[in-house]
Amino acid sequence: MSATPNTQQGFERLAGLSYLNPAAPEPWASFVEQIERVRPYLGSLERWIETLKHPKRTLIVDVPIERDDGTVAHYEGYRVQHNLSRGPGKGGVRFHPDVTLNEVMALAGWMTVKNAAVGLPFGGAKGGIRVDPTTVSKGELQRITRRYTSEIGIIIGPDKDIPAPDVGTNAMTMAVMMDTFSMNRGGTATGVVTGKPIALGGSLGRQEATGRGVFITAREAGRQMGVPIEGARVVVQGFGNVGGIGARLFHAAGARVIAVADHTATLVNEAGIDIPAAMAHAAENGGLKGFAGASPIDIEDFWRLECEFLVPAALEGQLTVERAAGVRARIVVEGANGPTTPAADDVLRERGTLVVPDVLANAGGVTVSYFEWVQDFSSFFWTEDEINERLERIMVGAFSAIWKLAQEKHVSLRTAAFIIACQRVLEARAERGLYP
Ligand code: NAD
Repeated sequence: MSATPNTQQGFERLAGLSYLNPAAPEPWASFVEQIERVRPYLGSLERWIETLKHPKRTLIVDVPIERDDGTVAHYEGYRVQHNLSRGPGKGGVRFHPDVTLNEVMALAGWMTVKNAAVGLPFGGAKGGIRVDPTTVSKGELQRITRRYTSEIGIIIGPDKDIPAPDVGTNAMTMAVMMDTFSMNRGGTATGVVTGKPIALGGSLGRQEATGRGVFITAREAGRQMGVPIEGARVVVQGFGNVGGIGARLFHAAGARVIAVADHTATLVNEAGIDIPAAMAHAAENGGLKGFAGASPIDIEDFWRLECEFLVPAALEGQLTVERAAGVRARIVVEGANGPTTPAADDVLRERGTLVVPDVLANAGGVTVSYFEWVQDFSSFFWTEDEINERLERIMVGAFSAIWKLAQEKHVSLRTAAFIIACQRVLEARAERGLYP
């Protein structure tokens, strides 16, 4: 006989259907596990830890549009506000055919941690649409973006939740989102999104900021580990906004980028890849495939390359236990969000590989997004030098606080970053108190 909901067994069965199911697949399960690892360090704040395992607000929207051929297509859209205790939500919007609610929840959770770890006055949020932007026309993409923005318009705004670009979106997506929100509101609201074009209140240095942050934290980690950037061998997965710019900064600082990968090719050249040439090739051809300055290599061999810095900067879940067991890098710098599974994290730690966690390594983007939001509020814009100086100060300051705590508590940089962040978020939660 099957269990009914009013039996213990029945409740357990129904609990398994909850979107918060702790046995949920990656990456939400990874995030929850990372939170659990911080529990012993929270002291009296432990009382509030469940807050972090319950996204505050989860919005699923239908995004219907008329396609160019006259048919109607529907896309699934999400906006998750994981935690707003420290300020308005902040986090990107991802356009990718594999986006799920589970993934957006995890990404929103990591934004909560990231913003708090670096000390930005934001909560964590994230959004996404299940669409492959390369399979729709420019007009269709614009209609998708406008309808999605209108649908999530009930929860976003300059003082509520401020989206930004992520995988599959860019400055033009943000321009369309800003325009749609402004038209609906009846007044230009530049501060509703960041990562906008400069002409619409965007910030100098924003496009490069995440890659720059990756480079700064790699440099600081190298300094602590006695691994100078100059002459270091670097391997980078993902050759977009984060990986491409990160690779360029390593290259410019005298490092030898020996392997790069994107969704079209995985390439190696032990003598060092000419990164500006590879970037020009990728921009012209839509990817690295066909770039003559390096040779194809099997993706599993790519992860086993001996190097000083390994930078996963594509998608999450790339460094699995199996791959981690073969990693021969001194330092892993997580450009992507969630590229290392918790179990792989342990393997890397046992092997003596330092991991600079995503919530620190790729926080440069949201830091300059914060600068953009501040500049939009005051309508007073800073020079690129001012922006890069402030970014450097925040990233170096955050790195050094996290490094110090990791040494003191004998924990990984990730756990140290989570301890600092969770304490800040839960302290705000406790001081605000529960409503009503
Ligand atoms: P992007 O779209 O500009 O680039 C993504 C890159 O990854 C592309 O080169 C693509 O070809 C590559 N890629 C996709 N699938 C791949 C696969 N299966 N194997 C190898 N390469 C693959 O995106 P981005 O903005 O550079 O974001 C990359 C990562 O960094 C994401 O995890 C994102 O969440 C994170 N991130 C981005 C920012 C930002 O400011 N852009 C900030 C923080 C974190």
